[in-house]
Amino acid sequence: MIDDTIAAISTPLGEGGIGIVRISGPDAVRIATEIFKPAKDRDIKKENFKIIYGYIYNKDTNSADGKHEIIDEVLLSVMRAPNTYTREDVIEINCHGGSLPARVILELVLTKGARLAEPGEFTKRAFLNGRLDMAQAEAIIDVIRATTGDALKMAVGQLRGGLSRRIDSIQNKLLDITAFIEANIDFPEDEIEEYNLQKIRSSVLLIRDEVKKLIDTADTGRVYRDGLKTVIAGKPNVGKSSLLNVLLKEKRAIVTEIPGTTRDIIEEVLNIGGVPVRIIDTAGIRDTEDIIEKIGVERTKSAIEEAEMILIVFDSNAEYDHEDERIAKMVEKKRGIKVLNKIDLQDNINVHKEIREVLPDWPLIEISAIEEKGIEDLEKKIIEMVTGGKSIPKDGSMVSNIRHKNQLKKALRHLEDVLIAIDMGMPLDIIAIDIRGAWETVGEINGKVITENIIDKIFTEFCIGK
Ligand code: GDP
Repeated sequence: MIDDTIAAISTPLGEGGIGIVRISGPDAVRIATEIFKPAKDRDIKKENFKIIYGYIYNKDTNSADGKHEIIDEVLLSVMRAPNTYTREDVIEINCHGGSLPARVILELVLTKGARLAEPGEFTKRAFLNGRLDMAQAEAIIDVIRATTGDALKMAVGQLRGGLSRRIDSIQNKLLDITAFIEANIDFPEDEIEEYNLQKIRSSVLLIRDEVKKLIDTADTGRVYRDGLKTVIAGKPNVGKSSLLNVLLKEKRAIVTEIPGTTRDIIEEVLNIGGVPVRIIDTAGIRDTEDIIEKIGVERTKSAIEEAEMILIVFDSNAEYDHEDERIAKMVEKKRGIKVLNKIDLQDNINVHKEIREVLPDWPLIEISAIEEKGIEDLEKKIIEMVTGGKSIPKDGSMVSNIRHKNQLKKALRHLEDVLIAIDMGMPLDIIAIDIRGAWETVGEINGKVITENIIDKIFTEFCIGK
């Protein structure tokens, strides 16, 4: 039972149009009556889902003319339990933006008995009070952090229960099997058991396929959620910065004609056909004595290690040399695209044979960063490699969170064990253990089976005030 009242500033700090102080809990309305004076005579205790204009004031301090000191002119929303974000009484005070008004109001609210909310605590209450399941609560962070329209659509779909419905359905089917086993466990006559075992086996096979299908959505889902870590590699002067610039459609990276001067790694998130692509521009990779450049090169190597996609750029107007080869060697274990740049400079029939032959599994795209030729082809290829040509389900019925994927993989192992146990002729009560294990593992996704530790860990990722 939650019996305290929490408060926090829910808007980012800094100059802005409005700031919002949010209060949730049994004392929210009482606190509001003590610090808020409606412009017209109204009893906020009797209001629900109303926005009331008035003033926040401090009863304990007087201004020069002896009146209570007014802190700010505000709009106060009264939302009574249970139809609120947290399912508790919620008060939201819309004050003026800027760094002070919301802070002073929050301090006043805290002196009246509210406690400062922890990160994500409003959403945690929504979860604990049953308004959202855990997968939906986690989707809220993804809504807040989405970087492309498609990423947002996926997160909102999950928030609306797209993933939860699939998880619930898997869980219910597992529960049905458990009930079936329990009903049969006391009658272990051979014939009945064999028939029933086959029944259980086919149900488990179906559930296993469902779990597998969901796991298959996870890699694409994760890219939409977190962005595709992409490195543009290539020796100096091949046009890496120029390529980044056209992809960015504005000149944010430094383009230079002196080899090796793009020393810092710049990271930007691009929206490529709805796929958030986190491009990491790197210093030219080559052997060097220059210390600063060396740091850049080291960073490039670690960036390549982390990357999920490499765009290796070659200069169609320069010799293919040992530097190109060395870089190709560095990235050969990765997934990527060969980009042959500067095709405006020469007839592109004259593409170097070596470039065709190196990294033979990687597609080759010819571009001119300067004349912006071939860029669309490159973008299309990136999307195709991420999505496999499939579009994301509009209802969010896919996995994007690594925690969910890991739970599903654990559940899959339990289900495989069930199948092995059946095939080995194990008794029903042994089989029931793994069915139960799968049920619990999946239950950690929607939060039906979840420990306090995991709950706390998930919500600390949230911002304060959410
Ligand atoms: P980086 O060192 O790999 O980042 O290469 P830059 O992007 O700094 O480009 C090196 C030089 O090549 C600059 O002078 C660019 O203007 C030039 N350059 C880049 N892309 C092209 C291209 O498509 N065509 C031509 N003609 N020049 C290019």
